[in-house]
Amino acid sequence: MNVKLTWIMVLLFAVVSSSPAQTKKAIICLTYDDGLETQLSTVIPQLNAAGLKATFFLNSIQGSSGSSVIGQTPEAVIGWTNAATNGHELANHTLFHACPEKLGWEKSVAIETYSIDKLVTEIKTENTLLALLDPGRKQRSFAYPCNNFLIGGVDYSSIIQEQGLVKYGRAGGDSSSIVTTFKQVNTMKVPSWHVWTGTTLKQLINFAENVQKAAGMGVYQFHGVGGQVFAISKETHQAFLDYLKANQDKYWVTTFSAAMDFITKK
Ligand SMILES: [Zn+2]
Repeated sequence: MNVKLTWIMVLLFAVVSSSPAQTKKAIICLTYDDGLETQLSTVIPQLNAAGLKATFFLNSIQGSSGSSVIGQTPEAVIGWTNAATNGHELANHTLFHACPEKLGWEKSVAIETYSIDKLVTEIKTENTLLALLDPGRKQRSFAYPCNNFLIGGVDYSSIIQEQGLVKYGRAGGDSSSIVTTFKQVNTMKVPSWHVWTGTTLKQLINFAENVQKAAGMGVYQFHGVGGQVFAISKETHQAFLDYLKANQDKYWVTTFSAAMDFITKK
């Protein structure tokens, strides 16, 4: 091994080992749901430029069924493969994203029509898709479609963990949903702030500051950026990444699985 390579490895180790919250840093997880196109076109380039890693909960692979040019791999497949190669976490959000009918889902495909077995099959299938995009990752995190963990009144969260399909689960919540007691956290229902349409930079920073005051862990649940559902603007997202980057002494920004591995070992 040449000297240059050895130095690169030493530096890499220093970066990795200085990251955890051993220094009383607050843990911040940026998570993005539904595999939206604006995540590929806007979020990932912004994250990569800032050198920050995030978690993407994918259901199916949007836009993967075909390319507009025959014989070319669909852009979404290339985009998510590259995201994984760049250190982002690809995680499971089921295959068809079934939600309760009362949230506006078509009756024939709503979660009310599901059995646990059907949902388990979807989660297994999504794991297979994720393994094709991201073969390096051996365990998956999970996020409940529409933050709902009930099928016919049965809580399926522990079932999918016991079957070994997923290791950690992200649940819903609001801007007060901060994990403060690491020992007591339900690893299959880690709360997150479902960031609403038009959320401002000030509100995003305020949540991070509250996480820091609590010496806790805060999980952002984003969707669209600069368009699509529950969207915040591109500028707000960029400015928030700039803020996190400028305050790396206060925040450890990491993937959901890395944060959970850390707090469960603690
Ligand atoms: Zn979703």
